[in-house]
Parts: sequence; C-alpha cells; structure tokens
Amino acid sequence: MSSPFDAAVIGSGPNGLCAAIALAQGGLRVVLYEAASTVGGGLRTAELTLPGFRHDVCSAVHPMAVSAPFLSSLPLADHGLSWIRPEAPLAHPLADDSTVFLEATATATGAALGSDGERWVRTTAPFVAGWDRLLGDAMAPLGLPRHPLLLARFGLLALRSGTGLGRRLFADEPGRALFTGIAAHGVIDLDQPASGAIGLMLGLAGHAVGWPIPRGGAQSLADALVAHFEELGGTVRVGTPIVHLDEVETNGPIFFDTGPRAMCRIAGDSLPARYARALQRYRYGPGLFKIDYALSAPLPWRDPAVARAATVHLGGSTEEIVRSEAQTWRGEHPERPYCILVQPSLFDPTRAPAGQHTAWIYCHVPHGSTRDMQAVIEDQLERYAPGFRDVVLARHLRHTGQLEDDNPNYVGGDVNGGAPLLTQLFTRPRPQLNPYATPNPRLFLCSASTPPGGGVHGMAGYHAVRRAGLASDRALLSGGDASALS
Ligand SMILES: Cc1cc2nc3c(=O)[nH]c(=O)nc-3n(C[C@H](O)[C@H](O)[C@H](O)COP(=O)(O)OP(=O)(O)OC[C@H]3O[C@@H](n4cnc5c(N)ncnc54)[C@H](O)[C@@H]3O)c2cc1C
Repeated sequence: MSSPFDAAVIGSGPNGLCAAIALAQGGLRVVLYEAASTVGGGLRTAELTLPGFRHDVCSAVHPMAVSAPFLSSLPLADHGLSWIRPEAPLAHPLADDSTVFLEATATATGAALGSDGERWVRTTAPFVAGWDRLLGDAMAPLGLPRHPLLLARFGLLALRSGTGLGRRLFADEPGRALFTGIAAHGVIDLDQPASGAIGLMLGLAGHAVGWPIPRGGAQSLADALVAHFEELGGTVRVGTPIVHLDEVETNGPIFFDTGPRAMCRIAGDSLPARYARALQRYRYGPGLFKIDYALSAPLPWRDPAVARAATVHLGGSTEEIVRSEAQTWRGEHPERPYCILVQPSLFDPTRAPAGQHTAWIYCHVPHGSTRDMQAVIEDQLERYAPGFRDVVLARHLRHTGQLEDDNPNYVGGDVNGGAPLLTQLFTRPRPQLNPYATPNPRLFLCSASTPPGGGVHGMAGYHAVRRAGLASDRALLSGGDASALS
C-alpha cells in the first residue's frame, strides 16, 4: 500500500527535530510525531507559575546547541531565533562570600585564579582555537576522526575522572570548585572514569561561544526548528503519542527520539526479543528535583556580582560537590545538595512582567526519587542569597516521577537519556559500530540514549540519519556558525 510519507520521526526533542530536518533536506517527505500538545521535548517554555511568567520547563542554557555543527548550520535566525550571551557564562559563589566565574575568555577566567590561571589558559588555548574541528569529532559516534591529534589531546584529559582532572588542572580551591561544579552537569559520581569530560567540554564552550540563552526561552529554539522543518515540506503531528508501529504513516525508515525500551515496546515483534533483552541492561543515572520560581525582584545575592551570569552553581567547595554527587549516585539524598540555578530574566525581559523575574533551580536525586527536596534546596539558596524567600511570588515543584510523566524519555528522572559511564559514552545504548541502527533495517534510535548523549545539540538526530545513508556530511565539513550570538 502506498503511504503519504517517505520517512517518520517519533518525538520532537532537539534530536528528533534535527533528524526530521536532515531527512527533509534530502528531499524526503517526512512526518514528525509528538506525544505532548506542544513541540520541543526538552525545549519547552511555559507559564508554570503565574500569568506572564515564562519558565523553561527543562533546558535553559545552550552552549552545545550554538556549537553543534548541524544545528548551528541551520537558518534559524530567519525563523525568529536570537541568542543572548550573558556577560559571564557562569558564577560559582564560595563559602567566604567571594565568587569565582567562568568568564567569556580563558584569560579573564585565569586572571582570577592565581597560579592556576596560566595553566588554564595554556590547557584550553588549542581547544578553543580549534573548537569547530574538535566538536565535529567529539560530538560524533566512534569512527575515524578528521582531526585525530586534536581529539587525542582532548581525550587524554577528558577520559580522567572529574576529581582527577580537577586536581590535574587546579592546585587551589577556587579553580577546582569551579571545574568540579561544571563536571557535575554530567550527573555521575565524579570519581568515575571520563566523568571529567563534560566539565572540560562545557568549560571550553564557555570560552568558545559562551553559555547563551535563547531570547524568549528554549521554546524559541524548538519553534524555529519546526518552522524550518515545515519550510522544507515536513509535517508535524502534536498530541499524537505513538503506541504501535501500525500508527506510523510510512513504509520507509522510522527514527525514534525515545528511550531504547520505549522503542522496543512500540516496535513489538518488529525487533527481536534478544535485542530488547540486551537493551534492558542499559543503565540510567540519577534524576532531578526542580523548582521554578516567579519572583517580585531579582534574587538578593550576597555577592551582587553573581548577577553577571545567567547560570549559577550553588555547591560551595569541591568536597561538598563531590560528596553530593557520590551520594545521589549511591541512591542517597544529599543533605547539602549541589544545585544548578538559572536566572534568565536578568538578561531577557520577555520572561516576566516588567520588573519581575523568573528562576529555576534543581539538584540531583537518586533515580526514581519522589522525595520533596524543596527545603534542602532552599537552605542552599539561602546560604548565598539570604532572604530570597521575600521575593518569591509562586513556586512550581517537580520530582522525578512528574518529570517522567511530562516526558517519557526522562526515565527515573534521568534527563540525559542514560548514565554517561565510560562504557556508555561513545557507544550507547549498546556496543555496536553503528549505535543508531537496530536489527530491523527500517528502525533507528536517535535520542540522547545514542552518541553523543544528553543535552541540547541535536547531533544524535543528525548522525542517526547520516549513518542511515540519508544525509550528507556537509554540516560537519562547514563547521558551526555561532554568528547569531548577541
Ligand atoms: C530540568 C532540566 C534542565 C535541563 N537543562 C539543560 C540545559 O540547560 N542545557 C542542555 O543542553 N540540556 C539541558 N537538559 C537536558 C536536555 O533537555 C535533554 O538532554 C535533551 O532535551 C534530550 O533531547 P532528545 O531529543 O534526545 O529528547 P527530548 O528532548 O527528551 O524529547 C523527546 C520527545 O519525544 C516525545 N516522545 C517520547 N515518546 C513518544 C511517543 N511514543 N510518541 C510521540 N512522542 C514521544 C516526548 O514527549 C518528547 O517531547 C535539561 C533537562 C531538564 C529536564
């Protein structure tokens, strides 16, 4: 029977959207299905608290999106996307009321790090200079790198644990705490091998492109991707959860921006039972507990300079951060959790009514936890922004079960589609040459559960289509274009 579409994508997160665009660029008629009533997956913005307060439901800060070779090659500014680059990528207040910053340049960051500063500048220089080349290789599945020397140099550092790399790069506490907080974005025990990789990557990104936020919130990026997809002739069906393959309107390839087990459930007999059993061994990591705030005024930071950055790490010392991450990895709830806070309305007035503000904060919690972490998170915030409760107008809380209800890809609250263990870093969800392929030649996985893993970059979607032989290498050869940054 003839079908109206040549290919289909299930799920409209950044990877699903990039897969759909890559397929449509190749001239295919593509349909994209989304279970929720709005597109975007991790890229959504909504009035979660009060009218006029627009909160990023999931992701907020996007250094990897502006860096990713495919996504950054798309004409998204034509569809209303503009990026805001806060003065400093990151603020990390310390216990002594001082603050250490990841600045826009390595030189400026290093200037505040005493004897560690020179080493940071020396270490980062070749990677920042070769950022586009590094990204083309580092954000790809295992294969022959185009720039092997640069990648090998990066790998020698990135394969270390977060704690080991922190000790190697920084002799003193401020630099080490700053780096450890960045590495903790990986949501992994920081003594695990390769747990330093995310810290190094995001630290370098801060100097190469900043840690930008989209004007209007993460939804603006999703909406621009959809507009470009539709311009290429693509069809989007929202409010359409796919439960069985029969519902998919194509006889051609199907790309799953879903978890691996969800893909097996939907595929049913179209995938062998032994393959589905093998995917049961895929390991998920800890989850998040998140609070969104509507605020009557900016957060009252003890050190007012914290307002220079949209992203703030509230973890205090290296020791505290390492302990907090080890506890959640072991299945315990930290009493002093490492927290990540974003205050976008300081830089983007579209997020809240005039003079008022939004912020979100989360801490890591054990996989599947439903414990209410509001009190311990707010104790941490109180340490650095005393009296902040006076400016809170409303809150919206989410434990891991509620995160998973909102988006089935967040299994047990793991927002990265699986733990970034060394064994699951380059080839996931299982070891194989083409990690996106399945035993069924029509079915492909393209979510964060495939390389290069979690975060908003869309490279898993692009590589899945490329490895299926349905997209060209053009984006990888041209490199990223972060020129839309303001
Ligand atoms: C609180 C929070 C903060 C974060 N902060 C950041 C950040 O600042 N920067 C960053 O880079 N990353 C951040 N992330 C992580 C990032 O959002 C994810 O890693 C990323 O969105 C994964 O992209 P994806 O395309 O693989 O899947 P997702 O974005 O999870 O999208 C999957 C989509 O598929 C849909 N779907 C699933 N099953 C079906 C089905 N059967 N039928 C139809 N549709 C289906 C889902 O509804 C969803 O819309 C954050 C995540 C959370 C939750």
